[in-house]
Amino acid sequence: MTQLYDLHCHSTASDGALSPTELVKRAAENAVTTLALTDHDTTDGLIEARACADELHINFVNGIELSVQWEKQCLHIVGLNIQPQHEVLQKVIAELHIMRTERAEKIALKLAKKGIPDALAAVQGTATNETITRVHFANFLVSQAYVSTVTEAFDRYLGDGKVAYVSTTWTPLETAIQAILAAGGIPVVAHPLRYNLTATRMRKLLGAFKNAGGQAIEVVTGRYNPDEMRVLANYATQFELSGSVGSDFHSPTNQWIELGRLAVLPVSIKPVWELWQ
Ligand code: AMP
Ligand code: MN
Ligand code: MN
Ligand code: MN
Repeated sequence: MTQLYDLHCHSTASDGALSPTELVKRAAENAVTTLALTDHDTTDGLIEARACADELHINFVNGIELSVQWEKQCLHIVGLNIQPQHEVLQKVIAELHIMRTERAEKIALKLAKKGIPDALAAVQGTATNETITRVHFANFLVSQAYVSTVTEAFDRYLGDGKVAYVSTTWTPLETAIQAILAAGGIPVVAHPLRYNLTATRMRKLLGAFKNAGGQAIEVVTGRYNPDEMRVLANYATQFELSGSVGSDFHSPTNQWIELGRLAVLPVSIKPVWELWQ
């Protein structure tokens, strides 16, 4: 049987639109044979997702996508094949939840000053745990007709530098990598081209990542074109990192690609799943 890996996606445990069960069902319908759920800063969806994956006979990998800080830059580091309950990892998650709650309170204050009250209670009501994301605020702004789309919510209010933007100091890169390693997982740089780094900064990041114990980068991701995939494959080769494959699927209706609709990892790249299989 053809193997189809999708090692990056989101459920309602963070900012995805589908429950873990709905997500796994959709992956199975799309012929995914190995799925990793990688919600932002939480492992809460993993038990439900695994139960459904077992029922549908698809392989399931415990994952997470940690929000991290590297030289004033917010980056996303995926952890694959983690032990979800590991205390070092859960400590980092607890700290991230505090940061997210404090940020949410500040975002709500900024919105209130712009004449948009009650945002905090609304997002606390729609988030399934303490992982309150900007997408929760965006959905609130759409539901109250302050904007007509999530994209408009980011463009007008929530995007970097916009009126309700609040900067946060996330977990340091090295701490996040150590936590993933402690939990027996593989640290992976998520969507490396989405940070708009110069080639020099990218090499600096990958050097720091590798030094701290990082093992892979996403070489195939939802929104990349073939040229970008070649660039990423070159980085993986240069820094002796394995390659991962992930759609970053969030919702059936947003701009991200469909679950499992991914290019094949170039044959020159060592697949990340060989690190745990
Ligand atoms: P947060 O981690 O709470 O800052 O939220 C970031 C999340 O917002 C990302 O993981 C994306 O899912 C989503 N996001 C970021 N920018 C946009 C955008 N322009 N339009 C829609 N969703 C976005
Ligand atoms: Mn997201
Ligand atoms: Mn991300
Ligand atoms: Mn993601």
